[in-house]
Amino acid sequence: AHPETEAVEFLVTESNGVLRGKWAPAATIAKAFADGINFPFSMYGLDVWGREVMETGLHVTTGDRDGYCRAVPGSLRPVPWAARPTAQVLLTMHADTGEAFLGDPRHALVRVVERMKAAGYTPCCAVELEFYLLDPKAPPMADGMPAPVYRATAGPTPQNMYAMSDLSDFSSFFSDIWAYGKAQGLPIDTMVSEAAPGQFEVNLKHRADAVAAADDAVMLKRLVCEVARRHGLKATFMPKPFMDVAGSGLHLHVSLLDRFGHNVFADPMIGERRLGQAIAGLLETMQASTLLFVSSWNGFRRLQPGSYAPTTASWGHNNRSVGVRVPASSDAARRLEHRIAGADANPYLVTAAVLAGMLEGLERELTPPPPVVRNAYEEPVPALPASMAEAITLFERSDFVRRMLGVEYRSLIAHLKRAEAEAFAREITPLERLTYL
Ligand code: GLU
Ligand code: MG
Ligand code: MG
Repeated sequence: AHPETEAVEFLVTESNGVLRGKWAPAATIAKAFADGINFPFSMYGLDVWGREVMETGLHVTTGDRDGYCRAVPGSLRPVPWAARPTAQVLLTMHADTGEAFLGDPRHALVRVVERMKAAGYTPCCAVELEFYLLDPKAPPMADGMPAPVYRATAGPTPQNMYAMSDLSDFSSFFSDIWAYGKAQGLPIDTMVSEAAPGQFEVNLKHRADAVAAADDAVMLKRLVCEVARRHGLKATFMPKPFMDVAGSGLHLHVSLLDRFGHNVFADPMIGERRLGQAIAGLLETMQASTLLFVSSWNGFRRLQPGSYAPTTASWGHNNRSVGVRVPASSDAARRLEHRIAGADANPYLVTAAVLAGMLEGLERELTPPPPVVRNAYEEPVPALPASMAEAITLFERSDFVRRMLGVEYRSLIAHLKRAEAEAFAREITPLERLTYL
């Protein structure tokens, strides 16, 4: 760390995709790299409200034990928004035996990447993240929700998509995102105003290290939230915060490098076939993996026809209505864009499920169905699970998921998500009272 660093923030991503951590004096950095830092295993066994779920073999709640989290090499970065010189370090959980803990989502991705490398592929990933900027000082919406920085009014509203004036209105916000991203070594690429009022998008450049690309996505979310806070705003990655306008997605672009560092999908002989196989694997495994992409009750509200969020296990060239898009590009940049995940999904588990799905298609040399050439919302293509309950059932029955995560972690995630789904299904909403009372 920089000699003037006074403090460090130790960070871990838990099962629900939330980054958690603690503040400590800078002297602990050396300890973190040498012996590790304690965090309770229960962090991985709590649902979104912090309630313990049933044990599933990972012993995440037994006796609320602590485990050793080790510092991820190369993860030491400055925290440019902190009031005093501060660094941050990413940690991964280790089991009592010293091996990586099977319930750590980052580790799940590490294992999938190892399998891909053993098969001769190095995945190259880039994450896009959409979010809303809210203004907590503005009058709230009718239901008490903080209002976005621009409000939709009844009738026609100005076009926010790619509006340069929206970027100008928040130029100091975006300039801080860029400057802090640079200070942290995050490869920030484009930033745009998105379709809905107050919705924006920040994209990261691709990296030939899928785990590092997911680390960057986790850090970018934190950066966006912290910069918003400094500007008196609130950023949210909630997938569908407002009913009648666009939701926020996490899109993942993936290409594969062969042993010589060449883009497999760009190969004049086999590129097209390999791309088709990878897509076929993604489509075959998509319903089973949906819970990892759409991992919250709210996330399922985002999957609506006509919203540019997908509703089907489909693919197409240069088409935004499908689940997997092959963007228009030069041959060298040939890649796929996976569009299912909501912005609140865990980037490690999203990337793990996408890569494992691609590998499934490559290893079994699957053939994809024909691409969707029109609007996928109106085509006879297989639907994604329509509810969280359906997604959980498909997930926990899936042998593909078992091979990706192990039986214990599959079961833990299913338990966590079932607890979440059941609580929402039980809830009697204001609309129900208004309608039926
Ligand atoms: N907001 C859309 C989603 O929820 C994506 C729009 C786009 O193509 O950028 O995924
Ligand atoms: Mg977008
Ligand atoms: Mg996109």
